[in-house]
Amino acid sequence: MIQDLAEKLFIDGEWRRGEGERIPVQNPATGEVLGHVAAATPAEIDVAVAAARKAFKIWSRLAPVERSKALHRLGDAVSAEADAMARTMTLEQGKPLNEAKGEILKLAEACHFYAEEAVRIHGEIVPNTTTDIDSLVVREPIGVVGAITPWNYPAELIGWKLCGALAAGCTIVIKPAELTPFTALAIARMAEKAKIPAGVVNVVTGPGSKVGQALVEHPGVDKIAFTGSSAVGLRIQQSCPTIKRLSLELGGNCPLIVTASADLGAAVKGAVRRSFRNMGQICIAINRIYVARPIAAEFVKRLGEAADGLVIANGIDKPDADVGAMASAEPLAKTKEHLADALAKGAKLVAGGASPEGEAFARGHFFRPTVVSDCTHAMKVMTEETFGPLVGVMVFDGLDEAIELANDTPYGLASYVYAKDMDEIRYLSGRLDYGNVAVNNVDAGIMNAPYGGRKQSGVGYEHGREGMLEYLNFKHVRIRYDEPKGR
Ligand code: NAD
Repeated sequence: MIQDLAEKLFIDGEWRRGEGERIPVQNPATGEVLGHVAAATPAEIDVAVAAARKAFKIWSRLAPVERSKALHRLGDAVSAEADAMARTMTLEQGKPLNEAKGEILKLAEACHFYAEEAVRIHGEIVPNTTTDIDSLVVREPIGVVGAITPWNYPAELIGWKLCGALAAGCTIVIKPAELTPFTALAIARMAEKAKIPAGVVNVVTGPGSKVGQALVEHPGVDKIAFTGSSAVGLRIQQSCPTIKRLSLELGGNCPLIVTASADLGAAVKGAVRRSFRNMGQICIAINRIYVARPIAAEFVKRLGEAADGLVIANGIDKPDADVGAMASAEPLAKTKEHLADALAKGAKLVAGGASPEGEAFARGHFFRPTVVSDCTHAMKVMTEETFGPLVGVMVFDGLDEAIELANDTPYGLASYVYAKDMDEIRYLSGRLDYGNVAVNNVDAGIMNAPYGGRKQSGVGYEHGREGMLEYLNFKHVRIRYDEPKGR
């Protein structure tokens, strides 16, 4: 699949050989160059935006049921090609093959979910002060969407934008992350297979600072849907030259609180899953754990054992490995930096702490899932997003202290609680200043509920009906009627 997509851009329903500079894409598990993509030139970006504008005129006027059918077809095409698409993702991103396939199937789920929502874009009739007037509140698609996405979930994070936008009647130009462009191009291939009209879906590859920024600044783009770091999100917000709708899904620094009433086994299992899945490269990863003093020693011991027990491998060779390679040298370097900072400031190493040994790991970006205890908020691991397989643990004495520590961050994406006591659950979930609170589970986002961050974690929502509303404008149509003549 990769060779077939190399150096191509998908614009106006056609595969064009890109004219710009070639950028290598590496397999992070082996260092091997998988292929090259073309950095879209300003002229190619203009053509893509113009194609999306032209297609918008038709797509936005199509009966919603037709858009719904198209999205169902896309979902079916994605499911049918799930194995090949998953392989592409594992090769460029590093996550184990089974996990990559799970992500592709979730992309298909998003297609079908928003296919159903497309036919439910209702309006309202609002009462007026006199009965001769109707106020209709109707919803209309915003226009052309520029979607800019990161590399950690290369299919799903495109899918939520693509499906929400298309269901609403918008068209889209996607700029995927530099590390994972082939998954995005594979999605474009599925849009082609699903016979989504030319120009409705376009993919341009290349560096964020040039191609992404060009979409942000483009007068033909009506909305930017961005997922990525808070720093780039802020830059996008500040650099829009004109007023544009923005949704920004940004970084996190997510806490887990484990109270004395918690089911310890479940808490350890949840903590391991959400700290280390995808090598901790998840915006909603558990970065820091606050555990009640009476159970702290046992929790830390079991957490360390569980982390040490995770199977790490090249995800192509071992599809069911727990974790694969990290996506690039950058998050690995940051993980090491946060670990060294914590240890220098008095943290204790409980598990991991080094790269795995052996020939299989020699050329890839591998690191053992790592737990440090005795942490404080002087350490980066507790206050910054690591985006790697490292979690810090700190003890608390009272619930108010745990809440204060958990909320002591500029971020507000997701938080987690393990507790059995209902009074504790209510007290904590009501006070955690986060867009998502998961209690006795660690799956903070599901397809049919809104998912979004607060504070520096962003604005806007994805998932659920709310995820589609982000692509719609309200229009108030106020009509005054006369009594009909000759009644
Ligand atoms: P990043 O911000 O470096 O890049 C994200 C995308 O923005 C890439 O496509 C990049 O090319 C592009 N970009 C970079 N500079 C740009 C610019 N000046 N103008 C326009 N586009 C530009 O993020 P990343 O390293 O790819 O991803 C990791 C980050 O994403 C983490 O902070 C993580 O928390 C966040 N994230 C958030 C969510 C969420 O739902 N809130 C989900 C996944 C990842």
